[in-house]
Amino acid sequence: MNSQPATKRIADRIAEKVRHAIISHHKRSGKVLFSDTTLRDGEQMPGATLEPHEKLQIAKALQETGIHSLDAGFPASSEADVEAIRMMIGVITKPVLTALCRTVRTDIDAAERALDGNPLHKKGVSLFCGTSPLHRTYKLNRSRSEVLKIITDSVSYAASKFRIVAFSPEDASRTEVDYLCQCYREAIDAGATTIGFPDTVGLLTPEKAADFIKAIQDGVPNLNRALLAVHFHNDLGLAVANTLACIQQGANVVQCTVNGIGERAGNASLEEVVMALALHGDQYKRSFDMDTTKLAPLCQLVAQLTGISIPRMKPIGGANIFATEAGIHQDGLLKNPDTYLPFRPEKVGGGDLQLVLGRHSGRKAVAHRLAELAISVDDAGVAAIMELIKRQPKGQVIDEATLRRLVREVG
Ligand code: MN
Repeated sequence: MNSQPATKRIADRIAEKVRHAIISHHKRSGKVLFSDTTLRDGEQMPGATLEPHEKLQIAKALQETGIHSLDAGFPASSEADVEAIRMMIGVITKPVLTALCRTVRTDIDAAERALDGNPLHKKGVSLFCGTSPLHRTYKLNRSRSEVLKIITDSVSYAASKFRIVAFSPEDASRTEVDYLCQCYREAIDAGATTIGFPDTVGLLTPEKAADFIKAIQDGVPNLNRALLAVHFHNDLGLAVANTLACIQQGANVVQCTVNGIGERAGNASLEEVVMALALHGDQYKRSFDMDTTKLAPLCQLVAQLTGISIPRMKPIGGANIFATEAGIHQDGLLKNPDTYLPFRPEKVGGGDLQLVLGRHSGRKAVAHRLAELAISVDDAGVAAIMELIKRQPKGQVIDEATLRRLVREVG
């Protein structure tokens, strides 16, 4: 008699126990697990193309920052994604690497080939299938029960090859809640270890997002066997707020992108969610493994490699975040930086405070800049320079050369 099947059954049972233990551990710890999709959803943004070696560079920076899992690409859709994932094997060893798949076997096979060589507990697939009436009718031309069958068939196929299997009903936020919960229940029974809630078109508000999570927690009794992940788009400027509302409601995994890049108005911005959690531990009471001091350099790296520049006012990474031209703020910052900052630059690995000289500046900032440049000017001289600054043409930057010129003009 061949003992192989019995051995395999025992191995499978052990693997199942380990998997359950890991999920229970994550749930009990209350930790917020960050999943990054800069390299997949972020790169889907028009104009943001990354070469495989650039993806690897970003993946390394994300690994250093403490990301839990990395949505590394869509192997069935592009050879470049396969190449990027192949470069990550053996190098990106801390986060789980996941590959995106449609609910078709060939996509799962492509993911298996791309991720070959990574240990089972560090690789997974992320399956998606449209579930909303709009997607069922216009995109898939399938009934509710047909879509359910596609989901369960593909999830069980994926579970035969991977220990980590995520399933996301695309356009979940426009799917009937009872049907959505049915999709989740059956996906978990078929072997899904994470269920995702994507607000694919980015239309929810924080209250409605939290209501969805509550409905899923109530309507999916087997959710004790899977992690709950959320994925928000920023079409109403609410992606970060929605993500935080779901964390408050108990979501385990949050999917974000660096600088919030992504389809249309982008995704929830990783650095913003991390900092909100870091500054409001008293409210969320959830731990996480992200190193906030790596955030600003990470934002710069992604902007540089994607070619998608960071808006000046963008939280955390924008050029204006630690710069001010207003006299009252400059005076306060010189006395104590905390007077006009929610957090200091070093908290996010940002650059120095910048007191920008311009029409709105005050004498204190001008005197401070002159002292930095070791130019000695008395109070009357500073006042005269201030007057000249106020009369400079619109848009004139008061850089070092300009300031030296003004000093010469006042004699
Ligand atoms: Mn998306």
